[in-house]
Amino acid sequence: MPVFDHPEFDHHQQIVFGSDEASGLRAIIAIHDTARGPALGGLRIFPYASDAEALTDVLRLSRGMTYKSALADLPLGGGKAVIIADPRRDKTPELLRAMGRLVDGLGGAYITAEDSGTGEADMRLIAEATEHVGGLPRHGAASGDPSPFTAWGVFCALKSAVRHGLGRDDLTGVRVAVQGVGNVGAHLARHLHAAGARLVLTDVDAAALAKLAEELGAEAVAPAAIADAEVDVFAPCALGAALSEAVVDRLKARVVCGAANNQLASPSIAERLMARGILYTPDYVANAGGVIEIAWQRRDDYRRDAVMAHIEGIGATLNEIFARADREGLSPATVADDLARERFRPAG
Ligand code: NAD
Repeated sequence: MPVFDHPEFDHHQQIVFGSDEASGLRAIIAIHDTARGPALGGLRIFPYASDAEALTDVLRLSRGMTYKSALADLPLGGGKAVIIADPRRDKTPELLRAMGRLVDGLGGAYITAEDSGTGEADMRLIAEATEHVGGLPRHGAASGDPSPFTAWGVFCALKSAVRHGLGRDDLTGVRVAVQGVGNVGAHLARHLHAAGARLVLTDVDAAALAKLAEELGAEAVAPAAIADAEVDVFAPCALGAALSEAVVDRLKARVVCGAANNQLASPSIAERLMARGILYTPDYVANAGGVIEIAWQRRDDYRRDAVMAHIEGIGATLNEIFARADREGLSPATVADDLARERFRPAG
């Protein structure tokens, strides 16, 4: 399994393969960059088909965290961890404690948190073996769930994108299609509803979809129909790779802004969106609200108003990205990557 020649290898600082026979742990931690601070990124537990697939995921995701933290102006670098296991079957306290020991061995260079396949209860078990855990409730918070903060950041991002892409300063009557009404999508839909937007919602979970659509007086459509919705904004809040060539060609929306990670099925999709006159909001800029809150939880001077102000700064960052993209004739995705690299690898 090549590492240094891997297509997703991007001068990662450190890659650790860990195992524990007793608990069955097989894990990879990738630290992409620590120039701005310790590498923070979630722990994903997933039944990868092969070690190679797990390596691809952890290399890609850890690099993304460096970019996300740099553009959110956090004193953090980027890292990520994966455990090759089925979270419903294999996630035992012993496995998580063994993972905690692996994280602890890195002495704080990597800080773990929740991701797909892990939750707050898992972080508590990991925290029995290491102090290098984020995403646990501190400073009187009722929960460590970052989703409400992520949703607020996406809402701020969407307002910036609507201003830039549609020339509208408020969301009254703006039609938004939300794909996926899970933790983040449902919060986002409620913010949009309160701001006067008209919503089209979808989810593969028909019961959750019907409930939220009724609560918000929104239209509910089948998952396969969401890309055709007659809307101004498309908000991908489900899985990655929501924007394939076929989907982009069907979109009626002039703006894309959502919470999902890795929305572009391939990098060239950014240019395809541009060619169709659709403004794309770089996903890792829009969805940084959760990591901003986790970063604040690590500070002794945590203040909710300061956290919210920091998250609202996502709008200003996007204003800068959209303006530079126009000036340089580049896609917002390319400009976001350039700006992030300027921040974590300053010249000289
Ligand atoms: P979630 O699992 O709670 O919600 C995802 C929802 O999408 C679920 O309701 C699921 O049923 C639905 N879904 C799955 N496939 C679908 C499909 N094909 N069509 C329509 N709906 C579908 O996850 P979440 O925490 O809300 O995260 C949503 C996205 O945002 C993910 O891509 C995640 O990586 C990203 N993200 C989340 C956070 C956070 O704070 N939770 C932070 C950054 C990024």
